[in-house]
Amino acid sequence: MVRIVTKFGGTSLATPERVLSVARRLVAYHNEGNEVVAVVSAMGSATDDLLTLARSVNASPPARELDMLLATGEMVSMSVVAMAIASLGVQAVSLTGRQAGILTTSTHNKATISGLRCDRVRQALEDDTIVIVAGFQGITDNDDITTLGRGGSDTTAVALAAGLGADRCEIYSDVDGVYTCDPRVVPRARKLDEVSYEEMLELAAAGAGVLQMRAVEFARNFGVVLLCKSAFSSNPGTTVKEATMESAVVSGIAYDKSEAKITIRNVPDSLGIAAVVFEAIASSGINVDMIVQNISENGFTDISFTSPAHELPRLRPVLDGLLERLGIREYLVDDTIAKISVVGAGMKSNPGIAAKMFKVLAEHNVNIEMISTSAIRISVVIDGASTSGALQALHTAFGLDADDLFEETQLSAEELAAKAAKGR
Ligand code: ASP
Ligand code: MG
Repeated sequence: MVRIVTKFGGTSLATPERVLSVARRLVAYHNEGNEVVAVVSAMGSATDDLLTLARSVNASPPARELDMLLATGEMVSMSVVAMAIASLGVQAVSLTGRQAGILTTSTHNKATISGLRCDRVRQALEDDTIVIVAGFQGITDNDDITTLGRGGSDTTAVALAAGLGADRCEIYSDVDGVYTCDPRVVPRARKLDEVSYEEMLELAAAGAGVLQMRAVEFARNFGVVLLCKSAFSSNPGTTVKEATMESAVVSGIAYDKSEAKITIRNVPDSLGIAAVVFEAIASSGINVDMIVQNISENGFTDISFTSPAHELPRLRPVLDGLLERLGIREYLVDDTIAKISVVGAGMKSNPGIAAKMFKVLAEHNVNIEMISTSAIRISVVIDGASTSGALQALHTAFGLDADDLFEETQLSAEELAAKAAKGR
C-alpha cells in the first residue's frame, strides 16, 4: 500500500468549488488503494485577513493570542475538506496540529517542530480514513497552540511525510512547480523537472516563493522527496531531491525586492567596531543579509549592509543610538534596491560564473552595488528599477530561455476570465 502525504495551499482551497475539487483528488487517490493524508492551509487570504483583524484591535498583538487566532484559519479548511470528502461517500477525519501530534518549540509565531506523535494519524489510516491535518500549527509542552511562520503548512506536510514514512509527498499550490525564474517577469522562464535540496534552499532564501525554506531543510535532513505541482492542472511539476551527478551550472535566478540597503558613513576604523554595530542590530532581533565594509581612508570607513525593508522602523532607532554612541555622522537608507541571485549546483566545479554574471550586467548598464556568494550562489544588489532587464539578460546569457513564452494556459480559469474582463 502506498502512503501519500499531500499539502494544499490557500489558493487551491479558496472557494467551495476548489475545496470540492481537492476532495475529489484525495478520494481518487484513496480509491486507487492508497493511504492518504492531506495537510491544508487556510482558505484564500484567510491568514492575512486574520492578521488584519488582530492588528485592528492591537498594533502589536501578543504572540500567544495571535497564534490562537491564526490557527483557526487552517481549522476552517480542515473541517470543510473533511466534509467535502464525506459528501463523496468516503470516510475522512480532520485533525488539529495537536490532535495530529505536531509538537513544537514555544517560540510563538515562528515555532519549530520538535517532535511528532503520529499514532492517531496512523490509526485513522489503518481504519481506511483520509486524514486532513491543519497545517502551520502545533502544540507546545505546555499545551499552547503555536504557528510555524508564514508558509508553514509546507513544513507540517514534510514533517508528517518523514514521521509517517510516506512513499510520496506532494505539495499542491497555484503554480506548476519551480521555475528557472519568475515567469511573470521573465516570460521565457522554464519549469524545472528537478531541483536539488541545496539549490532549492538557496533559491528560497534568495526570494523564490515556491516552498517555505524550513520545509526544504526538513526534507533534506530526512530525505523526503518533494513533488511540487499545481492544483489546477495535470502538469507533472518539479521534484525536489538529492542532487544528481550531472548538475546544471545555473539552475535558476531569483530576485528579492524586500530588502533595504543601509550605509553607515565615516565609521571610525578601530578594532571591534563592526562587532559593536552588528551586535546592536542583532540584539534587537533584526536580520542582516549582505555586509560590505569599504577600505578605510584617514581612519574612517563606510559599512553597508542589507536588512528587510519592513524592519526599518525598528532599525532606525538602533542606528540613531549607534550614531550617538560612536560619534558617527550619518547613515543612508536605500529601499529601492533589488537582490538578484544566480543559483546552480554545478557552479562548484565551473569557475567563471561570477565573472560572466558581472559582465552581462555591465553590458546591460546595470551597476552592481554589493556582492555576496556561497558555494552554489552569487548574489548582487542592484538598483531595483533594473530588475526586470537584469533578470532577462542573465536568463538568456546562462542559457535558461525556453523556446516558448510562459503560456496563458498556466493560469487558472478564473485568472483567465479576469484577464479577459480587463480587455487584455
Ligand atoms: N496559512 C499560513 C500562511 O498563509 C500557512 C501556509 O499557508 O502555509 O502563511
Ligand atoms: Mg497561505
